[in-house]
Amino acid sequence: MLLMEKEKNFFDLIIIGAGFAGMYALYKAKQHNLSVRVFEKASGVGGTWYWNRYPGARCDVESMQYSYQFSKKLEQEWEWKEQYATQAEILKYAEHVAERYNLKPSIKFNETIISAHFDEKSKIWKINNRKGKEYTSKFCIMATGCLSSTYTPFLKGASSFEGEIYHTGNWPHQTIDFTGKTVGIIGTGSSAIQSIPVIAEQAEHLYVFQRTPHYTVPARNRFLIYDKKQNGSKKRRAEGFDTDLTVEEIKTDYDNLRKKAKKMYAAMAFNLNKKSALEVPELERKKEYENRWNKGGVPFIGAFIDLNLNREANETAAEFVRNKIRQTVKDPLVAEKLVPNYTIGCKRLAVDTNYYETYNKANVTLVDIKNDPIEKIFSRGIITKKEKYLFDSLIYATGFDAMTGALLKIDIKGTQGIKLAKKWSKGPRSFLGLAIKGFPNLFTITGPGSPSVFTNMITSIEQHVDWIFDCLDYLKAHNIEIIEATEKSENDWVKHNQEIAKPHIRSSCSSWYMGSNIEGKPEIFMPYVGGFPAYVKKCEEISKSGYKGFLLSN
Ligand code: NAP
Repeated sequence: MLLMEKEKNFFDLIIIGAGFAGMYALYKAKQHNLSVRVFEKASGVGGTWYWNRYPGARCDVESMQYSYQFSKKLEQEWEWKEQYATQAEILKYAEHVAERYNLKPSIKFNETIISAHFDEKSKIWKINNRKGKEYTSKFCIMATGCLSSTYTPFLKGASSFEGEIYHTGNWPHQTIDFTGKTVGIIGTGSSAIQSIPVIAEQAEHLYVFQRTPHYTVPARNRFLIYDKKQNGSKKRRAEGFDTDLTVEEIKTDYDNLRKKAKKMYAAMAFNLNKKSALEVPELERKKEYENRWNKGGVPFIGAFIDLNLNREANETAAEFVRNKIRQTVKDPLVAEKLVPNYTIGCKRLAVDTNYYETYNKANVTLVDIKNDPIEKIFSRGIITKKEKYLFDSLIYATGFDAMTGALLKIDIKGTQGIKLAKKWSKGPRSFLGLAIKGFPNLFTITGPGSPSVFTNMITSIEQHVDWIFDCLDYLKAHNIEIIEATEKSENDWVKHNQEIAKPHIRSSCSSWYMGSNIEGKPEIFMPYVGGFPAYVKKCEEISKSGYKGFLLSN
């Protein structure tokens, strides 16, 4: 049992969420000697890595990069096992950080916050849990995550299913073994792409219900090589470096890797080819794609500089992957069902281990529900327009109410009782994805309007948290009580976001970036598409100017 810090109700700062964002914000608050409390609905730290325990779950950002950089000691001490860490390894890392920095006594676990109201008279945030208990604070940080509110679509008859039901985003803690079972999985996004090959290894039969085929590239994950002695001259290559490096070598010059990463669009170091896909001869283009396909991972999309901006260039990469699918999947009819017909990288590029190969297994059936739609779920499976599929277990791999879902689950009210849900009824509005007009002294970490999900999330989290704590220092030094985004700065930022998103490949199809996966959700491009370096520059301009674009008052 953890000994909770002395129970009290008023804090300098309340943080909602104990994922990587909430944990780092708590660490900083402790360094600043603030009285602070974190509320977390789970029974442990880790956020997305606490909930997403589905078979095959792992991160598609290299572990040497998908890690905190605030502590050089931590960076040196922690030993990642694999190039792409498993969910279990990342959760272990989160646990380690919580223990190492004594964070747990300041976190109240199993505490679901249902409302946060700003009291204009006392200038404090009043925060209530499910049982009506109230906590108050001067500042509030929402560290609620971008992909933490799961989405289960409404399907006729869903409640009549009598077998086991799972959601990839809220997976049970005990090991689920599908050996000897028939399984149906709905959805073919990143979560399904990771879990399908693992489930297919166990299940007697797996039915995959696919509405839209997704692009995925092989991960080619491997165990990390620690030093030269370990594997003779065969060393592990690190992204972002031109030469082959061992972990030992990366750690000797970790700062260099981090610096390189921060100069990149996605805050991830890898070799980006500065050439246009259209300027090189076909042979060179194919060779570049082939090399990246063989090397594995999301750097595939860095094969040429214009894949995210020019449809013609994008089509060359898309066609390359389509042909790989046709070469890998033996049944041409199944292969054609798996071939996407839209731009690559528009929906988030997935990274897999044996995804397309899995469709060559006799115990896997792909059901194309675009052509044969689901009519209903019944007690023993799914009935489509043409067929009846019987299975024991049903898995929803149907994603999240992304970016706004977790925030809007909380009844957040600002000045004059304005509700965030009402303010965002036509789509999220914020200044820098960090602050919202009408909601003073409240900050959102990696909120809509920031690069967040387009980047290495941990780097973006650290950048936001550092910015917030610099801001709190400034307020204290200048005896300022209240900070609030102005209407103009918010309007200008939202307009700028939409303008730069328009020509970008990422707004060329329907996706959760636009909210189009959720019925009734306003379709507006949510993350900032201008890249990490441009965004950081803007944030720094604002802080250096004495918080231009914010109203500061007493
Ligand atoms: P997702 O990408 O939103 O995929 C959801 C899937 O469910 C899609 O195939 C979607 O089809 C389908 N679907 C939704 N509603 C449906 C309905 N009513 N009927 C049939 N199919 C339906 O969700 P996700 O796979 O959980 O991934 C979400 C995000 O989490 C990823 O994009 C990524 O950012 C993150 N993630 C990262 C990793 C990683 O680091 N490796 C792993 C997993 C997830 P449509 O495409 O037709 O809408």
